[in-house]
Amino acid sequence: MQFGEKFFGKLKEFILGESPDDMATLIRHYENMADYADVLSTLLVDVEEHGIDIDYDKDRTGGYTDGTIQVYIHDTGRRYDIKLLPDDRMWGYCDCKPEDEGYDPVNRCCGNGCDWIAPAFEAEVVTSLGVYKYQGNQRDMWEVEKKWDEHTKAHRIKCYEKKLQESEHYADYYARQAVAWEEEIANLKEEA
Ligand SMILES: [Zn+2]
Repeated sequence: MQFGEKFFGKLKEFILGESPDDMATLIRHYENMADYADVLSTLLVDVEEHGIDIDYDKDRTGGYTDGTIQVYIHDTGRRYDIKLLPDDRMWGYCDCKPEDEGYDPVNRCCGNGCDWIAPAFEAEVVTSLGVYKYQGNQRDMWEVEKKWDEHTKAHRIKCYEKKLQESEHYADYYARQAVAWEEEIANLKEEA
């Protein structure tokens, strides 16, 4: 078995279970990731040693990404987030013709030198430090929440003090401006 085969095999299976639209996107990213198996070696080792679950989170940024593949490594608290990114290659408007060399009739393009969006990815390791539950009762929480009333009050006072300082600064500025404008008016009147 080739190194990384387990991960790429599982990912392939996962992709084949997705909707046709997502599948088309994921296939392009799969092929790009397969070219970078060496940079994914920590992930690949983790997958060889442990079981995994794969999830696909669609883009939530309005088109800045193609979503994220999440790989959960069993019994480790580790997760790999592989952010799928579009790599815009603005190489020129396509006016390929059937007689051009390498013309692909399905894609109606030679696929070399025209605008296209290539796949790219960024991989991150997320390590969980555990899940920790609140140890108090509800009324203990009420008690500590009350402290925040003091925090918010102090914060608002600070904001108003800053605004006040700014207003004094502007008052000075306009007072100086007023003097300058008065001088200007006086000069203009004298000229006339
Ligand atoms: Zn073209």
